[in-house]
Amino acid sequence: MTSNADPLAALIGHEHAVKRLNAIAHDPPQSIVIEGGDADSRVALALYWAMRLNCASGSIPCGQCPACKQIADFAFNDLIMFDGREGLIKVEPVREMRGTWGQPPNGDGHRVTVFAEAQMFMTESANALLKTLEEPRPGNVFVLTAPQRERLLETLVSRSWVVTLAWPDVRQNNPEIDEWTRALVNFWSSGRGWFGRTSAKGAVDKHLAMQVVLGMQRELREALSGNCATPLSNTMRQQHDPKSLRRIGLILDQAQEALNTQVPVNPAMVLDWVATRMF
Ligand SMILES: [Zn+2]
Repeated sequence: MTSNADPLAALIGHEHAVKRLNAIAHDPPQSIVIEGGDADSRVALALYWAMRLNCASGSIPCGQCPACKQIADFAFNDLIMFDGREGLIKVEPVREMRGTWGQPPNGDGHRVTVFAEAQMFMTESANALLKTLEEPRPGNVFVLTAPQRERLLETLVSRSWVVTLAWPDVRQNNPEIDEWTRALVNFWSSGRGWFGRTSAKGAVDKHLAMQVVLGMQRELREALSGNCATPLSNTMRQQHDPKSLRRIGLILDQAQEALNTQVPVNPAMVLDWVATRMF
């Protein structure tokens, strides 16, 4: 990365995730997982988080103060980076940091340790981090990025606050998700043919529910932009006015929020809630 490239440029289009982080910055969780998007946008959000917690403004990163600038250059002394994009994250360097994590940060903000593309953890490294998270680490916070939370050790995810970036802008959903979004849109106009899908035992797990919500958001973006590059977004555009389309956007945001919380939710019920609110 050259020093004049804007490391946060990859966050364009991810305002929703940025907003979610801003909302928790006054009391940052010990560990967050960033999934979705692509590797660049995940790392950019991790850097944003480091700036948000260390910027001299104490608020939205100014991009100008020493902390913001040094974080952008990966040269900040309260930023520790393990980069899985460069290969496996081995256990020795993780163990070596345990003394540092036991200390408060050097500056007035938080020490932020980023494990970029943490699916590249060796099992021992993940376990070493898990041990670290089991002890209080005042002033230290951790970020793990991965394409999907399922790629990480479950015990790490369950200790973390998860933020999901919109998946890369693939216009066409995969066939399975396409079938679900079609059924939702069909229910929206006819009031039929939905509950049989979600009531089948084991039909919907959290991952599928999230994919359906994100798939609907993708179709909605197409419909609202007027591009209507998919048949389904075209149908939505013809059957509903922009105001109702935007209302569905809010409902989907709330559903995504519910699926992201650590509180156990019934994923089938979240989808049913979306369907009935749409109708
Ligand atoms: Zn700043």
